[in-house]
Amino acid sequence: MSSNVRVRFAPSPTGYLHVGGARTALFNWLYARHTGGSFILRIEDTDKARNTAEATQAIYDGLNWLGLDWDEGPFKGGNHGPYFQSEREDIYLRYFNRLKGAGHLYEEANGAWRFRSQRKVVVLDDLVCGHIEFDLTNPETHPDITIRRPDGGWIFHFVNVVDDIEMKMTHVIRGEDHLSNTPKHLELYAALGAQPPRFAHIPLILNRDGSKMSKRDQGASIAGYIEQGYAPEAVRNYLCLLGWSPKENREIIPIEEITAKFDVPHLNRKNASFDLEKCHWMNVQYLVQMSLERFMQLSLPFIQKAGISYGTEDALRPVLAIVKEKTKQLDEVPDRIGFFFTEAYSFEEEAVEKTLRAPGALEKLLVLAGRYEASPEWTPEALEATLKATAAEQSWKNKELIHPARIAVSGRSVGPSLYHMMEVLGKERTVARMRATAARFAV
Ligand code: GLU
Repeated sequence: MSSNVRVRFAPSPTGYLHVGGARTALFNWLYARHTGGSFILRIEDTDKARNTAEATQAIYDGLNWLGLDWDEGPFKGGNHGPYFQSEREDIYLRYFNRLKGAGHLYEEANGAWRFRSQRKVVVLDDLVCGHIEFDLTNPETHPDITIRRPDGGWIFHFVNVVDDIEMKMTHVIRGEDHLSNTPKHLELYAALGAQPPRFAHIPLILNRDGSKMSKRDQGASIAGYIEQGYAPEAVRNYLCLLGWSPKENREIIPIEEITAKFDVPHLNRKNASFDLEKCHWMNVQYLVQMSLERFMQLSLPFIQKAGISYGTEDALRPVLAIVKEKTKQLDEVPDRIGFFFTEAYSFEEEAVEKTLRAPGALEKLLVLAGRYEASPEWTPEALEATLKATAAEQSWKNKELIHPARIAVSGRSVGPSLYHMMEVLGKERTVARMRATAARFAV
């Protein structure tokens, strides 16, 4: 399916990509994918003093991570470029001269240029906010907008409108914080004799206490989710629910289904409430439910960054299989798996004192090592049966073997299931670790 719908994400690269911006990008992307239209990325970098290369990179990284691919824009090209406002000077000059020639502009004493309002009531039929009439008749409350600075720099309102005309946008889906700008933009469209796009102003994202979400709030930066190892599909699913919801009371919804159902008139009118705990919960659900291959794909950057020599993916896979269930964020993975891949794993001091230094613990560990060495079968079930049989024979409690065994093979008192851990380590390494531990702490 393809259509003539053209929507865009038009960020100003002045900081990092925050949740509000990502949600705006996501809704535009969803609408483009729903309608078979095009999603355009345009970088609004006219404010030279505040724009940075890092901020632009954070936009690419965040969109790529969330899987919001654009059809035209940086790296992609397209028929309506350039897609950086800083490279569109000649286009702006052309439009500026048109407005000037038609008598819509006047120059201030300081050299700034203003656009003369028609002083009318401007009507907006917003796809989310509905029919709104903006009374612009009073110059006191609605002064003429500046479109060009004394230094020749362009003001947002003007270049935003020019680009939406030139890039043939059919819909503008953006945050409600821009609603008050829209009548000014509509006046510019009229003066330029251009048909305006349909507007959809989406509700603000608020903190749970009702305050406006700011850059300093926890969970505000998309980079934070990337660093902490959230699954991108989980964060994307969570963001979809900030202003949109399916009719049924469901929350975990595959993106294909959201794309099929998403439509602009379904967007909520009321503000969305941001709940980091909910996002975290959703991430855990996604991690538990995803395939092992996907879990490995998402974990690999963290494992590699931690410098763990895991050998091959075939060696890594069974280890990840036993830590997957308990992992809440992917940045935990290196710590959870490190001991599998080195004999120089560290021991928790408290566990050593409490368990390994308990009278007789190391002797018991050696007895178990002997039984395991002689054991023909190396499955979790067999390992459990052998441990319990050994304990029963010697009149020990199971835990008198379980605790020292766990600490011996992993160095720590908590972790994945002991029997699965030993299964993955294999007989040779399990027995060797038990003997080495007994020798090391025998004093
Ligand atoms: N550069 C503007 C912003 O980041 C774009 C607003 C719009 O989408 O029209 O807020």
